[in-house]
Amino acid sequence: MLVLVSNAGSTSLKFKLFDMPSERPLCEARVERVGSGEGIYHYQNAERNAALREDGLAVPGYSDGIRRFLSSLLDGESGVRLDGAAIRIEDVGAIGFKTVLAKGYYAVHELSAEVLAAMEAYRPVAPVHNGAYLEVIARFKEAFPRSRMAGVFETFFHTTIPLERRLYGIPYEWYRRYGVSRLGYHSASHSYVAQTLRADDEGEKKYRRIISCHLGGSCSICAILDGKSVDNSFGFSLQAGVPHANRTGDLDPYIMLFLLDSGMSMNELRAGLEKNGGMMGLSGFSNDMRDLEEAAEGKGKTPERAERARLALDVFVTAVQRYIGQYYAELGGLDALVFTAGIGENSPRLRKRIAASAACFGVSVDDSANETAKGRGKLLISAADSAAELWIVPANEEIIVARETYKLFTKTEAA
Ligand code: ADP
Repeated sequence: MLVLVSNAGSTSLKFKLFDMPSERPLCEARVERVGSGEGIYHYQNAERNAALREDGLAVPGYSDGIRRFLSSLLDGESGVRLDGAAIRIEDVGAIGFKTVLAKGYYAVHELSAEVLAAMEAYRPVAPVHNGAYLEVIARFKEAFPRSRMAGVFETFFHTTIPLERRLYGIPYEWYRRYGVSRLGYHSASHSYVAQTLRADDEGEKKYRRIISCHLGGSCSICAILDGKSVDNSFGFSLQAGVPHANRTGDLDPYIMLFLLDSGMSMNELRAGLEKNGGMMGLSGFSNDMRDLEEAAEGKGKTPERAERARLALDVFVTAVQRYIGQYYAELGGLDALVFTAGIGENSPRLRKRIAASAACFGVSVDDSANETAKGRGKLLISAADSAAELWIVPANEEIIVARETYKLFTKTEAA
C-alpha cells in the first residue's frame, strides 16, 4: 500500500510517500510560505535522482501546494514509478496526518466526520495546529477522493499514562465534562525513540526504562516503561512542560488570573503565553538556541544580552532536570536517556549540561562522541562507566505516521 504522510504547519506543508510495509521512501516534498506569492517548493525523488526547487511560487492556499506536489508526483520525468509505470492518484491507498488532538479521540483514527468535528471542538486548545489540519484535510479530500485518511493524533502514545498521572487537582466535573487532563503530545517522536532503541535490543530488555527528551522549537520529556509512555511533560495543551521556543511551558494558573485582574488584556496574555514567552521571552532577543548559546559565550552581543541568554539557558536546563528527576523516580531508575529533535540532535553543549544535571543518577557523557556526533545518525554518547546509556536518536516522525496509518487500514480491512 502506498501511504502518503503529510505534515501541516500554519504556513508550510510537507509530503512524504512510502511504500508500505517495506517502508521504502518514494519521494518527498515541502512547500514553505503557504499563503503568499513568494512560496518555496522542494521536491525530491531519490530513486530517480530527481530534485527540484522553485522560488517565488504563488501558493495562496493549501490546495495550491497540494496541486504543485501532485504535478511533480505524477510527472513523467520526476514522478514516482511503480513496476515501471507512472503512478496514478488512486494508487495512493492512504494518507496519514500528524494531527494534534480531537476531543475524545486520542489514538489513531480514520478521519470521519465525527473525528473532524471532535478536532473542531478542541480547536481552542490548539488553535494554530487544529485550524491548519482541518483546512489541509479538507483540501486533501478533494485532491485524493479515493484515498483513506488517518489522523495519527499526537496524543496516541500517551493513552497508556495511568489516570493518577493524568489528572489535575481540579473539580472532577471539569475532567468529565470538558476532558481536562494531561494528554501529552509528541507521540510520533517519542514512540520512534522507543521503537528504535528497543529494535536493537535483541530480547535483552536493556531498555526497559527510557527518558526521551524531544528538544526542538517545541519541547517535551517522556517517561517510557517497557515501550509504553507512562508520563509526558505536556499537559492538556502544548503549552505546558519545559519552556519552548516561544511558549511559556509550566505556569502557575493564578499568574494568569492575577495579570488579567491587573488590567492586562486577554490578547496580551495570549501573546505572552504563545509568542513572547519561552526562550524568546526569557532572552528578549531570540527563540533559537544557536543564538542564545553564542550570546551566552559573549560572541557579538552586549553584556546585557549575554546575561539574559545565560539566564534563559539556565532556566531551560533546570526545567529539563526537574522532569528527568521526576521520571527517574516514576520509572524506578533509568536505562537510557535519549536526545532528539533540533536541539537534542544538534547541541553538544546542551546535551552535556543536561546530562550533568542528572549526574547524581550516575550518568556521564563521552565528550568525544558527544562533540563529534553531527551527521552520525543514531549514536551512543555515554561514557563507558555511565550508569545509564545516553543516546542521540534523530527524529523520524513520518515513518511512525506511515506505520500507524498502514496498521489502522490493514487491521480494518482484515476485520
Ligand atoms: P520544530 O520542528 O519544533 O520547529 P526542530 O526540532 O527543527 O523544531 O528544532 C528547531 C530548533 O533546534 C531551533 O529553533 C534551534 O533552537 C535548535 N537548533 C537547531 N540547530 C541547533 C544547533 N546547532 N545548536 C543548538 N540548537 C540548534
